[in-house]
Amino acid sequence: MVSKQSDLSGLKGRIPLIGLTGGIGSGKTAVSDLLGSLGAGIVDTDLIAHQITSPKGVAIEAIKEQFGADYLDAAGALNRGKMRALVFAKPEARKNLEAITHPLIRLETIKQAKRLAAEGVPYLVFVVPLLLESGSWQGLIDQLVVVDCPEEVQITRVMQRSNLPRAEVEKILQAQAARKDRLASADIVIENQASFEKLKAEVNHLHEKILQIK
Ligand code: ATP
Repeated sequence: MVSKQSDLSGLKGRIPLIGLTGGIGSGKTAVSDLLGSLGAGIVDTDLIAHQITSPKGVAIEAIKEQFGADYLDAAGALNRGKMRALVFAKPEARKNLEAITHPLIRLETIKQAKRLAAEGVPYLVFVVPLLLESGSWQGLIDQLVVVDCPEEVQITRVMQRSNLPRAEVEKILQAQAARKDRLASADIVIENQASFEKLKAEVNHLHEKILQIK
């Protein structure tokens, strides 16, 4: 189970390794930004996934070869909308895409984590949207933080932020782990259904708690 992230295992025991997950639009980025401003070392796998599929990103050539230039946009980045439609319709396509992206995300994750640890951050936070679904993190992380809010709040936020129709957002939610399963796996739950002010107070508390981890 640990094998996929085994190159990170050298960090285990040296500094706390925190997993941060939550459903789409729950507020993972908001929480990791706040933790980052408090001095945490943030490795955001979603950001890495975007970087490797941006124009000239390291995954672009392989994606073009596998799926055709049609799946790139005018700037040469992955056409996310088109790819999302394909992988929802064809599980095989999802597998092919992940066979390209996952090893590259893993490499970059390891690189960033090692660099941040060498810089002396007090702890590392791995932001992994599908942490529960991927199954490869459980043996590595010391504490799992789940950002949570009611599904209706997730739907409203994502519709607004990404300009997606409700049905599309609901489809994404259904493809992710169920809220109750995520909550059941959590060591720490951050409630994010109220204001940013409330969230900030919760995250300050979380930061203090993580600093206590031996
Ligand atoms: P995704 O999984 O889609 O990347 P995420 O879990 O990282 O999302 P964020 O990007 O942090 O979530 O938040 C989703 C949207 O909701 C953003 O537009 C953000 O500004 C907004 N948002 C997050 N938390 C709150 C809050 N407490 N109050 C109001 N809006 C919020």
